[in-house]
Amino acid sequence: MTGPAGDGTELLRLRVRSEHDVFTVRQLGREVAAALRMDHQDQIRVATALSEVGRQMLARAGGAVVTFRVSPAEPMLRVEAVTAERLEQEHEDVAGALAAAARLVEVEVLADGEGTRVRLDRRLPPAAGTPTDKELTQVRAALARLTPASALDELAAQNEDLLTALGEVQRQRDELLRLNSELEETNQGVLALYRQLSDELEETNRGVVALYAELDQRSAELRKASEAKSRFLANASHELRAPVTAIIGLTRLLADAGSAPLTEEQAEQVDLVRTSAADLLSLVNDLLDLAKAESGRIEPALVEVALGGVFGQLRGTLRPLATRPEVTLLFDEPVGVPALVTDEMLLTQVLRNLVTNALKFTEQGMVRVSARWLPAEGLVEMEVTDTGIGIPAAEQERIFEEFYQVRGAFQAGGTGLGLPYARRVVTLLGGTLTVASEPGKGSRFRVRLPRVPPRGTHLGQVLMVGGDTPLEAAVTQVLLDEADRVSEAVDAAQALASISVEVPDVVVVRVSVPAGGDRAEAARSGRGGEPDGVALLRALAADERLAAIPVVVVTEPVDGEREAAWFGHAAAVVSAEDVTPETLRAAVRDAARAGPAR
Ligand code: ADP
Repeated sequence: MTGPAGDGTELLRLRVRSEHDVFTVRQLGREVAAALRMDHQDQIRVATALSEVGRQMLARAGGAVVTFRVSPAEPMLRVEAVTAERLEQEHEDVAGALAAAARLVEVEVLADGEGTRVRLDRRLPPAAGTPTDKELTQVRAALARLTPASALDELAAQNEDLLTALGEVQRQRDELLRLNSELEETNQGVLALYRQLSDELEETNRGVVALYAELDQRSAELRKASEAKSRFLANASHELRAPVTAIIGLTRLLADAGSAPLTEEQAEQVDLVRTSAADLLSLVNDLLDLAKAESGRIEPALVEVALGGVFGQLRGTLRPLATRPEVTLLFDEPVGVPALVTDEMLLTQVLRNLVTNALKFTEQGMVRVSARWLPAEGLVEMEVTDTGIGIPAAEQERIFEEFYQVRGAFQAGGTGLGLPYARRVVTLLGGTLTVASEPGKGSRFRVRLPRVPPRGTHLGQVLMVGGDTPLEAAVTQVLLDEADRVSEAVDAAQALASISVEVPDVVVVRVSVPAGGDRAEAARSGRGGEPDGVALLRALAADERLAAIPVVVVTEPVDGEREAAWFGHAAAVVSAEDVTPETLRAAVRDAARAGPAR
């Protein structure tokens, strides 16, 4: 069998019959490769593969004929070495040489009659393009001019090749080392950055935790301080009332016709003592009222109240105060206003307060009291309007602060306690007290009361269970309007501990259900996906002394079945998504009214 026709253009052919020929074939391999513009590495590949194969053919098959060809179709260099005798491929050395060659170039071994044909292929570099016939002729001519090198020359060339290869390996190893150390450095940089970030995060976290702890402490302190203040006011004013009342009584006795007559000067002094004591008494009474209202110790006595009657009574008692001839005091008949359920005495007190102020701060014009029914809101609106000096916008809220009085030319006496007290009382009755005013034109104080106050308008203690996200802050804000005190617990365990000390009027529990199912929560709680708040509901329902405490749940949407199972005990469930002060307020009121278990 001969090589198939069209295997390419033959460049060179030589016979290998001696050691020296092996060197020559190696040298030629490199020269041919170089002439075909293969790069240095490829030259060494071809040369080395050829010399390996050639050596074995000489040693084990009596030599070979080596042919160099260029196959333009691929294009590639194809070297064929054909032995006369069969090359024993299984022989260890032969197999080793063929394997080594196969690592360098493409190797194919074919039986060729008696002998063995080994084909070594290497593609030409694509950049060099397909060599033209002319070029091949030139290559052939150049090869013909070669003086066959001596074995020593070839050895030197081999050494050089080896050194180059070693150099290349070394260069690659250095490059690898450099890359590795760069990588190492980068890694260290990333690690350092990460460490720095997590340090910073930890520090920030610590700061936040400390801040929240301080906030908690501050609000607890504030609450305590405010309670202490109310207690002090209540006690002090109570203790003051008796001696002041006694002083007033004694001055009356002194001035009494039955007593020894006083000189004119003495009479004046006694009168001064009496009016001062009377002022003091009214201050003390105001303080006592306010302290009572603040500490929630005023219990409204709710009855059906017809406003017409209240207005009539006020007209009678206040007319003597309207002493200025330039000021008209007018009570509009409350037509179409239904009777409302409220505390008559407290409402009268508030309106009297507002009318007294209006008369005090109005030099001419009119003080008018009117009422309207707002059916859509279920509210009765009462207004005290005057044409007096008015209140600057910046001070319209401040006048509801204790002891605050607007400074100015117009000083009318008083304690600065009337409005804060009035607002407290109105809030207590479930309503609002607001002001609109324009300096120089007059003021309008507006009281709005629900026709029927919601039951449980004012709660003692509300226990809120949950973390401190902004949502919960809003919840707390709403609850503060509804309740005397809001206590907080972070989880079910803390809540139960708090309840064992004081039973709250309502429990509001934030149940966090993670989005996208509850698998993560399940993994965490280990209780079949049951959030902490649900455990609290379960514990409350299970204890007969605690089962009566109404519970409001604020939560993410959960499916109906689970909701039934989890929140069955809750008096109301409010979605965390549409929780607004209004929805929550309504839920808390309903819960307080209805008790547990929907
Ligand atoms: P007091 O009337 O005893 O000073 P209040 O709390 O009732 O205390 O009122 C606080 C302040 O609000 C008053 O001192 C006054 O400056 C202002 N004020 C209240 N009502 C009116 C009003 N109708 N017109 C103008 N100013 C008013």
